Amino acid sequence: MDFPKQYDVIVIGGGHAGTEASLAAARMGASTLLLTHNIETLGQMSCNPAIGGIGKSHLVKEVDALGGAMAEATDLGGIQFRVLNARKGPAVRATRAQADRALYRSAIRSILERQQNLEIFQQAADDLIVEGERVVGVVTNAGIRFRGKTVVITAGTFLGGRIHIGLDSHSGGRAGDPPSIALAERLRELPFRVERLKTGTPPRIDARSVDFSELEEQWGDTPTPVMSYLGSREQHPRQVCCWITHTNNRTHEIIQGGLDRSPMYSGVIEGVGPRYCPSIEDKVHRFADKDSHQIFVEPEGLTTNELYPNGISTSLPFDVQVALVHSIRGFENAHITRPGYAIEYDFFDPRDLLPSLETKFIQGLYFAGQINGTTGYEEAAAQGLLAGANAALRAQERDAWSPRRDQAYLGVLVDDLITTGTKEPYRMFTSRAEYRLLLREDNADLRLTEQGRELGLVSDERWHAFTEKREAIERERQRLQETWIHPNTPQAAAAESKLPQPLAREYNLMDLLRRPELRYSDVAPLKGEPVSDERVAEQVEISAKYAGYIDRQRDEIERLRAYEDTPIPADFDYSEVSGLSSEVKQKLGDTRPDTLARASRVPGVTPAAVSLLLIQLKKRG
Ligand code: FAD
Repeated sequence: MDFPKQYDVIVIGGGHAGTEASLAAARMGASTLLLTHNIETLGQMSCNPAIGGIGKSHLVKEVDALGGAMAEATDLGGIQFRVLNARKGPAVRATRAQADRALYRSAIRSILERQQNLEIFQQAADDLIVEGERVVGVVTNAGIRFRGKTVVITAGTFLGGRIHIGLDSHSGGRAGDPPSIALAERLRELPFRVERLKTGTPPRIDARSVDFSELEEQWGDTPTPVMSYLGSREQHPRQVCCWITHTNNRTHEIIQGGLDRSPMYSGVIEGVGPRYCPSIEDKVHRFADKDSHQIFVEPEGLTTNELYPNGISTSLPFDVQVALVHSIRGFENAHITRPGYAIEYDFFDPRDLLPSLETKFIQGLYFAGQINGTTGYEEAAAQGLLAGANAALRAQERDAWSPRRDQAYLGVLVDDLITTGTKEPYRMFTSRAEYRLLLREDNADLRLTEQGRELGLVSDERWHAFTEKREAIERERQRLQETWIHPNTPQAAAAESKLPQPLAREYNLMDLLRRPELRYSDVAPLKGEPVSDERVAEQVEISAKYAGYIDRQRDEIERLRAYEDTPIPADFDYSEVSGLSSEVKQKLGDTRPDTLARASRVPGVTPAAVSLLLIQLKKRG
């Protein structure tokens, strides 16, 4: 049957990419359909119920700055919040929240159900309607034909999904959900490069069977961090404790003894797993000299006894899982509620995508999330938002949009994927961004909200809150710049109590704030009224303290922008460049980038190597 309505955007899949894609398109005024297997699993976290962390919180905050749902749902569902790297510089600080799985899901569903221009339909998409080189719709497993100007596929780990526990395996999209086989076969008929990846999850444990007296407690931060720019602590549900325990030599012996029945080590699994989130058998095998690995024991929610033992993801046979869990301190009598497993799935080479995440071969067809070779909810959400926005832009006959690497982690993510592709599940790290000091989690709104407003992604409420904040930052900067402290006054004495030497002359408050010994809370009240909004104070402080570094990064961006326009001749001889390592020479020789900017993005090419190339290019004239 032909569905009677035609949509601007059809999104397949209601995971993290699909929900942000459909919300973004609908916010921009596109009539949008979200077609998903099961409405009950909208926003489901397949693995660890946690959002954020290093590199990932930056993406969450960028999605938030562009009006997305992930940060809001985290504030509504988060049961423990921490800032990681709190003692390090602001570039690498990252908010992480443990979430109540059910609260998070219901927050996402409620945001979806309130969104204008968005309709939801529960059924599997089995086929695409393609006319010439253009997608024009989707067919469901019941034969319903939905027509749409654009289609965004966000099928996650479901395409050709195969679940492994020991040497047993069966088809599945994740535990308890069917795989997507028909759609996977249809996509394999199209001219995309397809490969297999794998990921895994640990067994879950009943808290009533754990001896917590043996575990180390880990509480969240006080005051509690907040994820969304529009969020507040008052939205958070009850906060809870997490725990830490460790594997030991006995655990490792049990794992070694089970490797012959491991699907990974017996060659049953061919897909490559996530390097930075390896299974426990991988860790024990690869780091054989380590006699212990840390396990974070995290509650799955406020109304369940299930615990997530973060660090022992495994696809070993169930009897080995039981033995290894029982060998861990505090888990001696633990009852496993769900076995751990690995899943293998199809992903599509992201080098077949444009920066808008539209596929190069089929117009109007976009891919976002795990299907592009990434891993993680945050990476999926960010791509979903971008793909959904671009699908809406195409339907509205407007130009595509993609942020640059110096504007957003989203820009870094997409540029990495489409330029270099990936051979293993790609996750975000701050180290992937060359302009870390500019791309902080605290300033994602200042970087992106204005752009989001122009695109139509940002609501009036968010825009008003943002412009007020931006004006307040400017006002406070001006006040600090214009407020002077004179030597031998009570204000000078207050500042001097934290300084190694007395003030020799008059200083304005901004100068004082640049001193490493003084914080905003020391300087701002010396004269006049400090701001009460801690987020405004934070921006004023960071911009003062890091002004020199930030200016240097801006200069570098300008300089590198010129790299985009610096061609490398096709006959350029890399062996002539003195100082380049032979590895870099070989990689550049293999890739033969056509501009210096592209050369700089070839994996393994360091900023120092780029400088050497530039010198050589200048020598050649
Ligand atoms: P998903 O969240 O998988 O959502 C896909 C959605 O599409 C689902 O709602 C599904 O029902 C729907 N769907 C699929 N096909 C169709 C169709 N044909 N028609 C209609 N609907 C369809 N990430 C980490 O960062 N670390 C980890 O350790 C980790 N471990 C994982 C372990 C397991 C077992 C699994 C399954 C995933 C794991 N992940 C991990 C990955 C994480 O779950 C994903 O990165 C993230 O969920 C991807 O989001 P997504 O929106 O792309 O896909």
